[in-house]
Amino acid sequence: MSASTHSGAGKAKRPRFFFAAVAFLFALGFLGARPAGGPQVQSREAPPKICRYLTWEWNTRTRTSVNHRWVEKSFGEVTGEEMDPASRCSVCEADQITIELEGLPEFRVCKYFAGKVKAALLEIRESGFPLRTVTGYRVGRSRGKPDAEGLRTRFSNHSFGTALDLNADLNGMYSHCVVFGEACRLIRGGHWRPPNPGTLTADSIPVAALKAIGWKWGGEIAGRQKDFMHFSLTGY
Ligand SMILES: [Zn+2]
Repeated sequence: MSASTHSGAGKAKRPRFFFAAVAFLFALGFLGARPAGGPQVQSREAPPKICRYLTWEWNTRTRTSVNHRWVEKSFGEVTGEEMDPASRCSVCEADQITIELEGLPEFRVCKYFAGKVKAALLEIRESGFPLRTVTGYRVGRSRGKPDAEGLRTRFSNHSFGTALDLNADLNGMYSHCVVFGEACRLIRGGHWRPPNPGTLTADSIPVAALKAIGWKWGGEIAGRQKDFMHFSLTGY
């Protein structure tokens, strides 16, 4: 394999030393690679080096998304706000898995939830519930207190791939809506009018299937907003 095969007697000790050194370094590397504790199950996998994502801000004055741009940085430069501490999912595309279900445009969710989300959506499908649209991962600052220009300042849960919107055209998001009624104002999606087919309600199959994997429904959250299309770990 190499010229050392033909080395003379004077060099015979070098390979032995070499193997000892390699063994020593290997042992060091092995000890170093062991997780220090906690949920670092995939520590043997090389982490992706580049974090890329498309983002924007929601302008509360014009009610449009603005400043659309790509962000690209090394994973080491990912900041606290770009990582959801509860799920360890980041805004980076590399943390997202694409889910394809027949008859639906593909969507992405955080890799830690992809298996469960896919199974829940298959169950919804098999029940005969009409699933028309699904949105998962979508990075953007659509939460938080607006800045001086009226732009929202915090990433939504969709930004981390830890939220889903189902059938948005039938399950709108409302403000001024502590309890659903006449006073509620539709701010996104279509009007919520159960029992129209495809409408999400507390006793509907999609709400049950996603609650079973630990996701909460935005139609049941406390506060002035009701987001009937929306599911996430917190419901927000
Ligand atoms: Zn949503």
